[in-house]
Amino acid sequence: MTNVIKTCDVLIAGTGVAGVYSALNLNKNLKIILITKENLRDCNSYLAQGGISTVLNDDDIIPYIEDTIKAGNYKNNKKSVEILVKESKDNIKRLIDLHVPFDKNEDGSLSYTREGGHSTFRIAHVKDETGKYIMESLYKELETRTNIEVIEKCRLIDIIKKDKLCLGGICSFKDDTLEIHAKSTILATGGLGGLFTSTTNFPSLTGDGISIALKNNVAIQDINYLQLHPTVLYEKNSNGKRLLLSESLRGEGGIIRNLKGEEFVDSLKPRDIVSKAILKEISKTPDTPYVYLDLTHLDKNFLMKRFPFIYSECLSRGYIMDTDMLPISPAHHYAMGGIKVNINGETNLTNLYALGETACTGVHGNNRLASNSLLEGVVFAYRCAKKINEELYSHTVNYPTKEELIDFLKERVDENYAKLLNC
Ligand SMILES: Cc1cc2nc3c(=O)[nH]c(=O)nc-3n(C[C@H](O)[C@H](O)[C@H](O)COP(=O)(O)OP(=O)(O)OC[C@H]3O[C@@H](n4cnc5c(N)ncnc54)[C@H](O)[C@@H]3O)c2cc1C
Repeated sequence: MTNVIKTCDVLIAGTGVAGVYSALNLNKNLKIILITKENLRDCNSYLAQGGISTVLNDDDIIPYIEDTIKAGNYKNNKKSVEILVKESKDNIKRLIDLHVPFDKNEDGSLSYTREGGHSTFRIAHVKDETGKYIMESLYKELETRTNIEVIEKCRLIDIIKKDKLCLGGICSFKDDTLEIHAKSTILATGGLGGLFTSTTNFPSLTGDGISIALKNNVAIQDINYLQLHPTVLYEKNSNGKRLLLSESLRGEGGIIRNLKGEEFVDSLKPRDIVSKAILKEISKTPDTPYVYLDLTHLDKNFLMKRFPFIYSECLSRGYIMDTDMLPISPAHHYAMGGIKVNINGETNLTNLYALGETACTGVHGNNRLASNSLLEGVVFAYRCAKKINEELYSHTVNYPTKEELIDFLKERVDENYAKLLNC
């Protein structure tokens, strides 16, 4: 085993939406190393189905803030929520500029869907694979950036900490220990679904960022705020990663029913309420530990066109969405808490930042409103990148360049002396 040392301006751990979007918004003159534990695409961002929420217009600012805070049971950080909502539109525009092919109406405007807890249709989406399409657009842009080096199968195992400063990270890479020295380090290592036996998450996401933070006394917040997703396909003997049935299926008319076919809960309530009602219902029938998601009243062509991924995944498991009721039960889905950060992603350790699901901006309270996670990822990643750009700019290039200094002198020294200047 050898110890290899690399240096860069910014080290980012995680190639999900938070890690990659922050990398793309850092100055192009910064040297960035982007590492990921597994392959580039092995992240929850890639799995996102329903969409990314956005404020519709100025009249929607207050309703959207209220929906987020109501879903979060009033435990949210209000300032973070205001930022999330007010900066949503600009970031959706940035994603469109990066060629994310959001679904559109015939007149060219964005097509919005609705999910539980939203008082209106305000969720931008690409069919039922929004995360895949967003990430493919970001990865494509990544390929054009010569200042960003991507290292796959490179696991961050610790940060380098000295005198209350973070100076980079230590990684295990192949058989080597890779020490990456960086002026700024971003933890964008995602959630901790891999710790649960029943989850919608990638099993490789095991809360590494949180473990590293704990080891180094970096502050953690609300780690007990975990979210069950109510509509996950029930399969006998299925453990680990299970198939999510997007909340937008309910937004487009799907209804939750018990084994007798009765509608026992308002399907469009926030996730915690719906999950609780389902668990209560399931407890009455221990031999059949599921209820149903009913889409049979919806048009087959609509379902196949709007939800092609889920339709074919269900079909491969023997369920036809427009004729069969789908057995469902809740599973672990999301961590609202994490590494405590401020509105620019800064932790309480200088030069260490945290973004996305591993961070806690307080935006979700104790129950995340649907489709607010991808949005949190981009809004706070953009702010963090801006902050780092300012910080590193002031440290490295906040003085005249050699050429500017020569021009400055040329105007001030006599003609003969000017000839000696190296230009
Ligand atoms: C099935 C599913 C559907 C979802 N649908 C939606 C939706 O429609 N809308 C929405 O807003 N949200 C949705 N979510 C939630 C959302 O996708 C995630 O919360 C969000 O994408 C997290 O982004 P992230 O960048 O923080 O983490 P991730 O995208 O999970 O990325 C984490 C990255 O960190 C890397 N990593 C982890 N540990 C290490 C380590 N030690 N060293 C190096 N790299 C490491 C991983 O390999 C990965 O690249 C969904 C989640 C799931 C699971």
